[in-house]
Amino acid sequence: MAKLTITVNQSRCIGSGDCVENVPAVFQLDDNGKSQVINPTGAPDATILAGARGCPVKAITVVEADSGAQLFPPPKK
Ligand code: SF4
Repeated sequence: MAKLTITVNQSRCIGSGDCVENVPAVFQLDDNGKSQVINPTGAPDATILAGARGCPVKAITVVEADSGAQLFPPPKK
């Protein structure tokens, strides 16, 4: 399993809770109702990516740590 760097853009996050519902081992809402990453290795990569895709405001970015390749959102060409 590749090591992933997962980032939540908290100013973009609207606290919908979708990521928390879909991947609770990785995302939790903080005291301000914004998502934060609590454990970047808490779920399989595909599950984490699905959680990022499910964010309604695309606040979650997933990067492969070793290569620096952005997995989601797809990098603009
Ligand atoms: S799915 Fe997106 S908007 Fe909803 S809590 Fe997670 S990061 Fe925030």
